[in-house]
Parts: sequence; structure tokens; C-alpha cells
Amino acid sequence: MVQLPAVASSYYCRCSKCGLDRYHKVVTHTNETTVRLKCEVCGKTGNHNLEVKKSTSTAKSKGPKESKKTISAKAAAHAAEFEVFKNANNADGALTYSMKVTFKESQVVQHPKFGLGLVRSVQGDKIEVFFEDEVRFLVHGRV
Ligand SMILES: [Zn+2]
Repeated sequence: MVQLPAVASSYYCRCSKCGLDRYHKVVTHTNETTVRLKCEVCGKTGNHNLEVKKSTSTAKSKGPKESKKTISAKAAAHAAEFEVFKNANNADGALTYSMKVTFKESQVVQHPKFGLGLVRSVQGDKIEVFFEDEVRFLVHGRV
């Protein structure tokens, strides 16, 4: 357990706005380990966690098994972007993919193998499609 400073008492710590150690007024106890502080100089309020950070060495010692699970920032951004797209679109308005169909930019595509996708750009006989796993270039408009 962490001993939190009493509400309305002063707590001396670094203010992120001032960039200096300042006296802060304890506004409230947010939870068991966090207090809401108000800088007495600039008035900035913010949560301050008093919990003692546990050593990360145990997590690191797990080694490669742990790092495999780590998603790259790029993949995470891609997944987040797809989530937004998927929430805004569904298969109802989608055009089933076939190389014989001519697609337009921003067309929603239902691909039998890759699932729902969005045409990001049309480059001649190729379309750049944003799918859940990755961006693919597909042919289109082949008669
Ligand atoms: Zn401040």
C-alpha cells in the first residue's frame, strides 16, 4: 500500500508544465495509488501516481517469447486504421472483388480471400487495397 498525502495538503514534486519542482495542492485521491495535484504556481492539475514502479527485469528475462508478441508500431497503426474503417463500413456497400470489375478510389471491396478492404488508390490497371492484414496491389478492369 502507498501512503497518499492528505487532501488539501501540499506535495512537492515536479510540475510538467513549469518543468520544475513545485509545491502542489492535493486536490483529491484518484485511486489507491494516485492523487490529483494542482501546481501552486501555474495552476496545472494532473494525476500523480505514487505507486513504486516494479522492476521490469522480470519481464525482460522472459526473453524472445515476450518480444514475439510485440506488435510493431506500424502494424498497430495499420490495425487501428482498419478498425476505424471496419466500424464505418460493412459488406453491404462492398463490391465483390474480381479482376473483371473496374474499381474506383474509396470503393469498399469484399475479397473472397482477404476479406473487407478499401481501395486507396487506382494506378492504371492496378488498385491499392487496404486489407486487415496488409495493403495489397490487385489487378482490376480486365475484360
Ligand atoms: Zn506548474
